[in-house]
Amino acid sequence: MSVFDHAEFDNHEHVAFYHDEESGLSAIIAVHNTNLGPALGGCRMWPYINSTEALTDVLRLSKGMTYKAAMANIALGGGKSVIIGDPRKQKTPAMMESMGKFVDSLGGKYFTAEDSGIAVSDLAAMAKQSDYIAGVSAKYHYAGETPDGNPAPSTAYGVFVGLKASVEYKLNRSLEGVSVAIQGMGHVGYRLAKHLRDAGATLYVADIFPEGVDKAVTELGATAVPPEDILGLDVDVLAPCALGAAINDQTLPTIKAKVIAGAANNQLAREEIGDLLVTRDILYAPDYVLNAGGIIDIFHQRMESSSNHALREHIEGIGDTLNEIYQRADAEGRATSRVANSIAEERFSNKG
Ligand code: NAD
Repeated sequence: MSVFDHAEFDNHEHVAFYHDEESGLSAIIAVHNTNLGPALGGCRMWPYINSTEALTDVLRLSKGMTYKAAMANIALGGGKSVIIGDPRKQKTPAMMESMGKFVDSLGGKYFTAEDSGIAVSDLAAMAKQSDYIAGVSAKYHYAGETPDGNPAPSTAYGVFVGLKASVEYKLNRSLEGVSVAIQGMGHVGYRLAKHLRDAGATLYVADIFPEGVDKAVTELGATAVPPEDILGLDVDVLAPCALGAAINDQTLPTIKAKVIAGAANNQLAREEIGDLLVTRDILYAPDYVLNAGGIIDIFHQRMESSSNHALREHIEGIGDTLNEIYQRADAEGRATSRVANSIAEERFSNKG
């Protein structure tokens, strides 16, 4: 089958395949749309069973990045790259340098960064061969702390800002005394919990591993909840911060929260779930709008000149973007997830 006929092709501008026999690298770079600027998107290394599976993944992910960048108000397009292989068994520095050469061969049309299976040390190896590698060094931190290149603090702050705006919109109240159930006490979930605790929210947390939950109970006064109960808890807000598809046909009927606002990517198992949430009178903060703090962070780290303050203000814009989506969704009687897609499409299609 030709790439042009692929179900996920969706007008991609550029799809490049690369094989380097010496280092064993087999990789694909997909550039979805560069109307707003060069494409940015992480590099994922995964043991795909074949190149078809890898192609499907990279096309879907790169399209998602175009939407995310457009909604984050950054002058970037969407792209992504995948390396076919097991990162724990097959990754070598030579392979990463080879990936750097591949990224470089697109001449700046695509910038790569971290994703599953790729660490900062791998990016450093790629950076030996290309200037188009983001996330290797960091200059700014939204709260003025020493930056270490990890975008999770910015992501968590953006989720916090967006969650607060969502509560104000839907429940017409501040976060003081609002109950929030957080699924996943990882890099983002734990930091989000800390912001919420500081704002006076009541926390319920779950994870399949105990470390993050124990820490949240002792340090933040959170209540631990079994993972199988967290989504259906009787709370004001549900924050999915674990894996994708948390909101699906099985979990939807059990949800009691009036607001869903979390960091996880692809929270809705299928697009129609967004419509069903409207029917249930649940406000859904579209995931890629809410969790854009990380990409905003990467964007600022690459700017010639920015500041901690400019990064913070940009992240705080997530609240305004959500308000625009919510008002339009109410006016048009449509799902917030669909309205977010429409606004993103307007932004990246209209740029001449
Ligand atoms: P992480 O791996 O550090 O944390 C995820 C946590 O979820 C882990 O502690 C894991 O044990 C837990 N978990 C997995 N399945 C669970 C379940 N069924 N019930 C409860 N807990 C479960 O990842 P992260 O960096 O915190 O990211 C969280 C989510 O946010 C992911 O979906 C990620 O794609 C998305 N995201 C992260 C960033 C970022 O900057 N890190 C940016 C954008 C989006």
